[in-house]
Amino acid sequence: MILDTESLRVAFAVVALTLGILFYFADFRSTRSPYSAWWCVSMALFLAGSASLLLEGTPYRWLANPVGNALLVGGASAIWASARSLRAVRAPAWMLAGGPACSALAAAVDSPATNPWAGDLVFLVMMSLMIGLAARELLLGGSGGSSLRMSMAIAAASVAAFYFCRLVAFVVDGPRGSWYNTYVGPAPTTLIGTAFLAVASFSMFALSSENRAQVLRTAAAQDGLTGLLNRDGFLHAAANGLLRIRLDGNHGSLVLADLDNFKTINDNHGHAAGDTALKAFAGACRAAVRSGDLVGRVGGEEFALLLPGVSALSAQALVSDISDRFEAASASAQFQMPTASYGIIPIAEGNADLEQLIAAADTALYTAKSLGRNRSIIGTSNR
Ligand code: GH3
Ligand code: MG
Ligand code: MG
Repeated sequence: MILDTESLRVAFAVVALTLGILFYFADFRSTRSPYSAWWCVSMALFLAGSASLLLEGTPYRWLANPVGNALLVGGASAIWASARSLRAVRAPAWMLAGGPACSALAAAVDSPATNPWAGDLVFLVMMSLMIGLAARELLLGGSGGSSLRMSMAIAAASVAAFYFCRLVAFVVDGPRGSWYNTYVGPAPTTLIGTAFLAVASFSMFALSSENRAQVLRTAAAQDGLTGLLNRDGFLHAAANGLLRIRLDGNHGSLVLADLDNFKTINDNHGHAAGDTALKAFAGACRAAVRSGDLVGRVGGEEFALLLPGVSALSAQALVSDISDRFEAASASAQFQMPTASYGIIPIAEGNADLEQLIAAADTALYTAKSLGRNRSIIGTSNR
């Protein structure tokens, strides 16, 4: 069976157009994400590139390779930019423009009006390079969706390897060679390219949906004012953290903190100053804890910390550090920050669950308040 290249190129262009339109309406219009935008751009460039190569049989054939090659390499560069933006890394403009410019130039100076392979060597180098770089970006990863990303990376790496084989065959066998034309020539390439576009678009859409769900989950667990975990987010994460502490046979501490006479800050300096104090306290907590610790804002001016591997005495030193940092924030805020009281419960012996630990920390916090505030009290969970 002989696959005719022109028909395959038309099919490729139709598939790129369909996928581009589907992707635009199903993904880009709702996410407005850079990777979705780049994906739509790559579909448009592939569509235009394969349409340009159809000029080969017309009086405008001198345009076919310079424009077609540049647009197809542009499409591969846009796939690379899309994979890169999944890691929230921008693609440098010179790298995006470099491949298409080199491909156009190489074809333009290679007698494109008479030579059907004008600039193809540079085109093959650029295609395998840009798609290979896209595979590398996908392998380096990003947030969420690792198995999907891996399958896309493998698909992209296979296409890059295919283009590299084309390059080797082009050099060794020559563009008229039977081996080159049968196995890696324009017809099989267009067929493989069509399959790749379909697989990669589907994976990209699934990856985008996963990322969207992850963004929503993160936003739902976050306190809008301080950026700390909110009450639900803290309780969920702390339940898992407590389980891990117990499974590892580890110890730790649970701390509840409450700003002292916070209402007077709002009354004397206004609600905005109160918000500034809450943010300053969150910043002091963040600065004092280590990366594995959990901090949440669990009420208006109430905060909770889960500190794995930290004894109650070390937790007492840590909250004293938080209070010092909070006090130091008074200078830039231009009003005196309030003090804070803390209830600390060691997580060691016994099997008290999170709810009981929080209740015990609340009792210790109440004791700290009744003893005159601005202090920390170590309590027990009684279980
Ligand atoms: P205590 O030392 O006994 O804890 O006294 P307090 O004034 O800190 O506690 P109280 O519960 O009487 O008041 C808490 C105040 O926190 C009341 C509420 O208006 C204020 N508040 C709660 N959430 C916010 C917020 O997001 N921003 C601001 N500015 N104030 C808040
Ligand atoms: Mg309170
Ligand atoms: Mg208070």
